[in-house]
Amino acid sequence: MFEKILIANRGEIALRIQRACREMGIKTVAVYSEADRDAKYVKLADESVCIGPAASGQSYLNIPAVISAAEVTDAQAIHPGYGFLSENADFAERVEQSGFVFIGPRAETIRLMGDKISAKEAMNEAGVPCVPGSDGALGDDPEALMKSAKKIGYPVIIKAAGGGGGRGMRVVHTEAALVAAVNMTKAEAQAAFGNPVVYMEKFLELPRHIEIQVLSDQHGNAVYLGERDCSMQRRHQKIIEEAPAPGISTKLRDKIGERCAEACRKINYRGAGTFEFLYENDEFYFIEMNTRVQVEHPVTELITGIDIVQQQILIAAGEKLKFAQKDIHFRGHAVECRLNAEDPFNFVPSPGRITTFHMPGGPGIRVDTHAYGGYLVPPHYDSMIGKLIAYGDTREQAIARMRIALSEMVVEGIKTNIPLHIELMADAAFHQGGTSIHYLEQKLGIHSK
Ligand code: ADP
Repeated sequence: MFEKILIANRGEIALRIQRACREMGIKTVAVYSEADRDAKYVKLADESVCIGPAASGQSYLNIPAVISAAEVTDAQAIHPGYGFLSENADFAERVEQSGFVFIGPRAETIRLMGDKISAKEAMNEAGVPCVPGSDGALGDDPEALMKSAKKIGYPVIIKAAGGGGGRGMRVVHTEAALVAAVNMTKAEAQAAFGNPVVYMEKFLELPRHIEIQVLSDQHGNAVYLGERDCSMQRRHQKIIEEAPAPGISTKLRDKIGERCAEACRKINYRGAGTFEFLYENDEFYFIEMNTRVQVEHPVTELITGIDIVQQQILIAAGEKLKFAQKDIHFRGHAVECRLNAEDPFNFVPSPGRITTFHMPGGPGIRVDTHAYGGYLVPPHYDSMIGKLIAYGDTREQAIARMRIALSEMVVEGIKTNIPLHIELMADAAFHQGGTSIHYLEQKLGIHSK
């Protein structure tokens, strides 16, 4: 097992990874930008290294700075967390070339999944159901484009192969608008991602976002840890996640879960990963794979009792999974609310000094946060300051506990989205379960009138 791990991230996930390491008796190295110098997890780490100024391009995304921090501290492995360098294949490659273990998949897997066309091809081959679409990249011939769209059926969505963060896509409803839309998306994709390649998919009108968590070791063993429903989104960003997904039968979950585990075996996947699907009319459609730990991993941890971050470390160290699929049991229900430093209804970020901070507690409540009273939320990064996770025997109990936790939580000095979460926990459609990915924006449209 590793003796020392460098955590190439910040915020709540840096603290989460550090806790996993400490429990396993592994020493930790925190890296930080000048804006995060006083962070709690930096002080709690065994060692810490400043890797640059506040701007993430010069610090958390600075590959040579992260690698030299690992060199000077003699770390053996690097955990990338989520965001930043976590899905950067060049980083994974440089880490391994420099003699460290990258806690994540091999660089070639990250590259395969980073291109949405190659990812879909690989998944199609592995038997994972995908959104019907064009055979790979779109060319320039208008006739061929129209033929392709007609075959798929309108509306279609044009998506950038190298896209991410919900950007680089355009919905087309009619043949008249098709060619111009393809050309515009190509130009935008080139400008935003340096890659003009686009493809076409059937546009699903009212899907849910459901994803499958997997673990796959280096000895050919892969398991799925069930699904999460992450349909409560604004601007394609999740704000509430839960496990299991309301209304999905065990049979359906096992079927799609087994397909994902089998795909991992086929592509020789290493580590933790998530298969993201759109779900409509009882069908799953693969959209992309995330080759890293996700923000919402705790809901799966609570219903399975498996520590996903520790599993990532064990797998990276070459250990075999200690459990088979039949040993994994799903118990109870978990809901997560992402706490953001922002205006709850228009989402404008609200960085600044937290003056008062009271955390909730009680049965079934987990709080993952690096924030505290007196903490200065820097303006340079994502606005998420933590996550509130509630567990219960039933979905109703988990929601009831979440409502109490939200009402106990006090954060003063900055705006947070706690009022929005309080409203959503009382929302009739949310209570019923199974809302589509458009539900929140539709509701807020009504809200702001
Ligand atoms: P990104 O990597 O930018 O997050 P995704 O492929 O995961 O891109 O898609 C992001 C979001 O865009 C989805 O969660 C969904 O809301 C919407 N979307 C993508 N593809 C489709 C589709 N075929 N039909 C309907 N909505 C889609």
